Order: sequence, then C-alpha cells, then structure tokens
Amino acid sequence: MRTGSGSGAEPPRGAPVISLFRDDEGGFTTVGVAVALVLSLSLVFASAGAAWVTGRSSEVQRVADACAMAGENAVAAFSTVTQVLDACVLSMGLAGIVVLGAGLVVSCVPGLSVAGAQMTQAGGKILDARRTFARSAADGVERLEATLPLLIVANSASCVAANSTGETSYVGCALPFPAESRSDFSPLDKDVDDERLSQLSGEMGEVSDEVEEAQSRVDEALERGWRADCGSTPYCLRERAASLAGLSSAQNPNYPSPDGWTFGAALLRARRYYAARLSSAVVGGSDAEEITDSACRKAFYEYALEQVNAGIYQELGDGTVVVDLPSLPRNASQTRSTELYTDSRWPCTTEDGVRTLHSSTLCPGATGAASGTASVAEVDSGAVARCDECRMDVGDLGKVASASTSIANGFEHHWRIIVEASEDYERARADEAAAQRRLKDLADEGEDAFEQALEQLGVTRPTLCPPGAWGCVAVVARGSSRSVPSELTASFLSEAKLPEGAAVSASVLAPDSSTEDNNVLASFFDALAASDSAVGGALDGVMELWGGLLVGYGSAYGSVADAGGEFLDGLDGVLGGTVGAWLKGRLKQVMEGLGFEPVDLRLRKPVLVNTQDVLDQSGLDQLSSVRELVAALPDSGSATDFARSVGYWLEDEVGGERFTVAELPIPGTELTIPLTIDLSALRDAS
Ligand SMILES: [Zn+2]
Repeated sequence: MRTGSGSGAEPPRGAPVISLFRDDEGGFTTVGVAVALVLSLSLVFASAGAAWVTGRSSEVQRVADACAMAGENAVAAFSTVTQVLDACVLSMGLAGIVVLGAGLVVSCVPGLSVAGAQMTQAGGKILDARRTFARSAADGVERLEATLPLLIVANSASCVAANSTGETSYVGCALPFPAESRSDFSPLDKDVDDERLSQLSGEMGEVSDEVEEAQSRVDEALERGWRADCGSTPYCLRERAASLAGLSSAQNPNYPSPDGWTFGAALLRARRYYAARLSSAVVGGSDAEEITDSACRKAFYEYALEQVNAGIYQELGDGTVVVDLPSLPRNASQTRSTELYTDSRWPCTTEDGVRTLHSSTLCPGATGAASGTASVAEVDSGAVARCDECRMDVGDLGKVASASTSIANGFEHHWRIIVEASEDYERARADEAAAQRRLKDLADEGEDAFEQALEQLGVTRPTLCPPGAWGCVAVVARGSSRSVPSELTASFLSEAKLPEGAAVSASVLAPDSSTEDNNVLASFFDALAASDSAVGGALDGVMELWGGLLVGYGSAYGSVADAGGEFLDGLDGVLGGTVGAWLKGRLKQVMEGLGFEPVDLRLRKPVLVNTQDVLDQSGLDQLSSVRELVAALPDSGSATDFARSVGYWLEDEVGGERFTVAELPIPGTELTIPLTIDLSALRDAS
C-alpha cells in the first residue's frame, strides 16, 4: 500500500494499549484474545495524549505538542488497521490463486483428478472468503476513514482537556491535513476472476482421467506381452526358445518383470529363434510323410524369419510406439493369405505326363523328369497335380503352425499372444500420447490463467492518504490568559509572537525504523493459526501458505515465490514425470517473475515537526492560517464546534463504541472473526 504520510525524526516510544477485539457476547474468543494482543499494540485510538505529556504541564506549548501528537496518533492507528486489512485481502487472494494453481497441477496427474478438483474447490473457497472479507474491509475502512477527522479532533481535544486543572484550563484541538480523504480503497475489493482456472482444472481432470485409462491399458498389454514372453510357466516364449532352439541365455535373455521389458525384446528373441531353427532344419525322413513334414517346417521357418526380420518396434519421441509384429498363419486358411501359399518354391516333376508338385525332390513319388517349381496355390487351382506319395499341399503347410500355435508348448502359441498384446499396446500408447498432448495444451493455458489471476491481484493496491496523512496542526490556548484576537492583526506578527497563552504545534507520521521487520502481521497470523478451532478442517498446508503470504506482505515479490513454491513443492510425492510436474515448474517461474511492489511495513509514529511543513504541503500560508485558527478558538464550547467553524466536516460513520471494521472469514471453516475496534474512550471524550 502506498502511504501519503511523510517521514521525520525518531518517534517517541510507549504508545498505550487501548483497542481490543471482542466477540459478540462482549467476551474474548481464543482468536480474539490473541488478535487483540497483537493489534492493540498498534491500535491506539484513544487517550493517546497521556503518553506524550508527563504530568500536568503549565506550558501551553507542551500541551499543544501533546495535542498534535494525539491527533496524529489516530491517523497512525488508522494506517495500521488499513495495512493489516490490505495485507489480509492480498494474502488471501494470493493463497487462493496458489491453491488453485496447485489444483491445476494435481488435476494433471493421472489418477488424481478427484484430489485436484477438491484442491481447486478449496482455492475457490479461499477466494470466496477473500471476496466477502474484502467487501467488508473496504466498507469498514471507508467508514472509519470518514470518521477519522472526528476521531482526530476528539482524541486531541481529550488530550487538551486532560491537561486542564482547576486553576488553568486549555482549549483547542488538532486539525488534520488534508482535511478530507485522498485515499483510494477501490482496489481493495477488486475481484479476481478465477472462473477460467476452475474450469481448466475440471477439463484437466477429465483429460488426466483419459490418460489414466490409457495408461492402465498400456500397462495391461505390456504385462500380457511380458507374461507370454518371460512370465508364464511352465512354458513361455523364452523357455521355448531355449528348449526348442537351444538358444543361450545371452541370446535369449530373461526379464524377471515387465519393467524394462519391451515388445522389441520379444521380437529380437523371435528373430534369433527362427534363425536358429532354420539353420538346423534338415529336410529328410524315412518316409514321404516325414519328408513332407520336415520340408514344410523348413519353409515355415524361412517364412517366419523373413517376417520377424521385417517386424518393427520403435519408440518415438512423442510418446507413441510403432509396433509391427508379424502375425504368423496358424491354419491352412490363414496360410492361403501368405506368401507361403503363393511362393513358387516346390519342386515339380512330370509323372505320367502330368506336372506334379512335391514337398522335396527326396519324395519317393518324384520319379519323372524335373519340371521347375510351383506354388501350393497352383495345386488348389489345378495347374499342377498333388503327389500321391508326399501329398504336399497347403494343408500340410498349415499343419506346421496349427500344431505349435494351439498348444502351450509351441513357440507360436506364445508368439500369437504377444502379437495380439502388441497391437493393443500400440493403440493404448497412441491414445495416451494424444491425451497427454491435450493435457499439455490445457496446462499451457493454465499457466497463462494463473499468471493473469496473480496479476489481477497485484497490479493495483489501495492508495492510503487519509485525513491527517500530511500531518496534524494543533491550536491550543490557555483559557484564562488568552489574548484578544485584535493582537493578531498586527502586520508583522510571526508564529513566535503568538499571544501569550496560545501555541501551535504540528506532527506527522514517521516510520519507526525499529519496526522494519514488522511482526504485526506475523503475530496476527500466529494468533489466528494458534487457535486449533479456527483452522480445524482447513486444508493441510493452506494456513501455512496463507501465513507465509501474509507475513511476506512487506516484500510480496519474494514471499509469493517462497511461500507459493513451498506449497507446490509439498505436492512432489505424487507428480512423477507427469504434465503436472511440468506445470508445477512453470507456475513457480510465474511466481518468481511476479513484480509485486514491496510494502513499507514499518509502524508509523507521530513526531513533532514545524507547523510550516504541514501547512506548506496543504498549500496554505502559514502565518495567516495560524492567525485565523487561533482567532477562531472559542472561549468555551466544544472542540468539534471549533473544528466545524473553521471548515471541517466531522461526521460519525461508525456509530458506536465498538466498530467492526471487517469480518474475517477463516478459509476452510465456517468461522468468521469480527475485527472490532474499541472507540469508547473517544466517545466519552467528544
Ligand atoms: Zn511327392
């Protein structure tokens, strides 16, 4: 908050403790007590004058000095109240946005969409609380400020009266400059638009649910593939490759779990298996059937090796995989759709003038002249004849695979399961990657919305320039010996030559450098947080977050990054390598880049200055003004009548001895703490 008050010398010490926070029953709540203890240190609206005057003074100048300080003290109290309220509003807004940001981060994590939605809701509730509080604070502060001239006059007049004794009486009071408020509290209840953030959290939750669903399909397919390759007992692809092809464990590695296993591992194994089978395959046998079986096996291994060699397993940078594992035919019908059917690889002879196909030249039926090669498809079409001895046709080819595919001790049985799983896996990975891309786009949007919301909060802070911000001028005269106004009409009268028994004094607010690390806010927050009943049910970490932001109000740019970053770091356990982790990093950068203006949190204390300093700032000529003021002092009557007679508009907008300046809702609870200022001493004085 910008303050309109000037600065000056070291202020005097020892402000009295007057104001208190009370609950509706007139007692003190736990929180109220603590808050009261803290805020009462700085809320010194009433009877301040006694602090500045040690004992009764017969010197009118000393009474005038005390009077000026008493007036300005009301301004100091008002400034502190306003600053505390602004700090609450700002920090609640920041806390709300940070929690909303955390909601976005968590919503991006597959499986946590519900938790993300809850966190987003909590962020929204904090902003709702801020909205209610800001509205009440803006209204309260404006009413209190409107009453401030009256408080200044009453407070200072009560100080003057306190110095009157039976013999000697004083009249006078302090007058604030400027006379009217030049503050702007409208930024206090400027709303933050969190709708887009909440909406994004919902959309992210939906997409992260899709990611989760795709991931579970990915996991399931991978597990299924791994089980067929390495995990099932007593047979699996690895075990079969070792038993049937005698592959060494270096050639045929085992993966004890799906972690680290890929469909590429199964593909590599299949290549080695078929290469080994092919290299050891020999066509031969004691009869035509055996010869045909061995010839068909060799043809099948040759075909399978060619197929698996052309197979693909590739992981792409965008999170998708290309898996193309060949499906091997497992019966005659499927064989018809492969090259095994159409390859012209089978030897033919001419038997009785008919071109006849054999499984091998070793076939006992191959007695005629060689007649090139043909495919088994040509047997089906009738272009070549089937040999009666070896009976080679597509049916024999189909039998090779069908035997080993349909039973668990066949290599192809496990391969088929792996191929099917790989197809599901490829689809699921594509779905997952697509959902992740959409999630990333939403997270990008979330980062923008987060930044905008924070900027909405920080761009404009209230401007504080209440009546008395430039200072208070006290005009005091000793009742019994006040000189007649005519003396004041002398041409060259100076302030030093005011009539005997009259005096002026001025005070302004000066920052108290001993309060540089102002702990009013820290203590204020500690008081709130110390009450278990107040924060019970609040989200974990939210109160700490709010506290960090509240206490860091004086250096908002640092504290937002610190407190907000710490809060987001608390989510680390669940993020892994998700889009959420990425978004968290982005949000932290946004907070670090945030340019909040730091706030001077030093408490302000009244100090005496030359009257001219105050009048100059108000554009008033010192001499004539002082003369007019002293001349206007009534012999009797109230100070408020005097102030009104010299043009001050005094009104009571607070209307009671205790004024609730704002209602502070505690986020996450139903609790509302009324922040009440006790003005009774002033009412008595005026
Ligand atoms: Zn034959």
